[in-house]
Amino acid sequence: MKVLIINCGSSSLKYQLIDSDSEQVLAKGLCERIGIDGRLVYQKAGLDKEISDLAMPTHKEAIQFVLNALTNEKTGAIKDLKEIEAVGHRVVHGGEKFACSVVINDEVIDMVKECSDLAPLHNPANLIGINVCAELMPGVPNVGVFDTAFHQTMPKKAYIYGLPYEYYEKYGIRRYGFHGTSHSFVSKEMAAFLGLDLNNSKEIICHLGNGASISAVLNGKCVDTSMGLTPLEGLVMGTRSGSLDPAILEYIGKKEGLDAEGVLNVLNKKSGVFGISGGLSSDFRDLGEAAEKGNELAELALEVFAYTVAKYIGSYAAAMNGVDAIAFTAGIGENDPVTRKRIVSYLGYLGITLDEEANSKRGDNIVISTSDSKVKVCVVPTNEELAICRDTVALISGN
Ligand code: AMP
Repeated sequence: MKVLIINCGSSSLKYQLIDSDSEQVLAKGLCERIGIDGRLVYQKAGLDKEISDLAMPTHKEAIQFVLNALTNEKTGAIKDLKEIEAVGHRVVHGGEKFACSVVINDEVIDMVKECSDLAPLHNPANLIGINVCAELMPGVPNVGVFDTAFHQTMPKKAYIYGLPYEYYEKYGIRRYGFHGTSHSFVSKEMAAFLGLDLNNSKEIICHLGNGASISAVLNGKCVDTSMGLTPLEGLVMGTRSGSLDPAILEYIGKKEGLDAEGVLNVLNKKSGVFGISGGLSSDFRDLGEAAEKGNELAELALEVFAYTVAKYIGSYAAAMNGVDAIAFTAGIGENDPVTRKRIVSYLGYLGITLDEEANSKRGDNIVISTSDSKVKVCVVPTNEELAICRDTVALISGN
């Protein structure tokens, strides 16, 4: 079955066409600058990228251009749109309403709208993608896969904040967590790859990308995660501060003459390793190079990051009363052996030793802890699009 995966942002969208039988990507790309001018990037498997500047006043034109490219006589991946049997959409916030993926209907659309308060930048964009696909491909089922769904199994003690309880009841203020599709995919992949019984396992998943989060997965179910009501909580990230003393917000506001929005802008866009490194970069490649050349703030940023990850690993090992396996995934987790080494250097108390040679390799699933380590540490590439494709197929075939 051919499944189109759509990840719609406010001015951009990413897409992949996947053959669910072979799990191969047939074509992929993105639309950028929607509502500004418009650019389509399209790549059929095995061919070079094509970049075209095309007017995209709305997401409708953007998705129409994607469909045109997919069916283009010369470079299209399919002959006819009818070959697309389903569309899987990434939806950022499902609140408490969605604990799993769903086939989209009017009721689901209303429920996603109700969650928009919690993700005002993302959910409305996701809904536009859903509506446009329904309009341009009538009769083709659309499936919603939520970033928050995997974390809905967290017990109350893990998701309630130390705030007046009525704020949870009135406003839904609680930990929701994000990157759930990735945490779910990687936890299943790692269990299968290590031969662990998922239903009798303790895994810690470290999704370390520009946005970063960690989750504790007990018997295949999420029991805690580092992101919260929003993706700002938890680890120090590329440009996001992660957790800090909440009183700092007012203090920065006073000192810098900023209102709440201004302070949040600093916390979201000017903090994290970017902020610690004195604005040098949010990219771990740049920071690694600078640190090697003796830049002390770059070194500090990288060490703060690793130390914070290690502290979360410790707390999640405590939450599950042990851990069998730890996974590193996403841009940094998959590609940065130096950061992995820094993190693992804090984990000796768990009986973990790094296998330096394995850690220096790239590629598929690998174990990077030595064979005598008490806990397995792995690199497991994430694939959110494939996870969305699998959920979509399972739902529309009634599995
Ligand atoms: P993601 O958000 O998962 O796409 O991750 C993006 C981040 O991964 C970048 O900002 C970099 O910090 C990091 N990254 C990607 N490739 C490498 C690499 N080869 N070495 C170190 N960091 C990398």
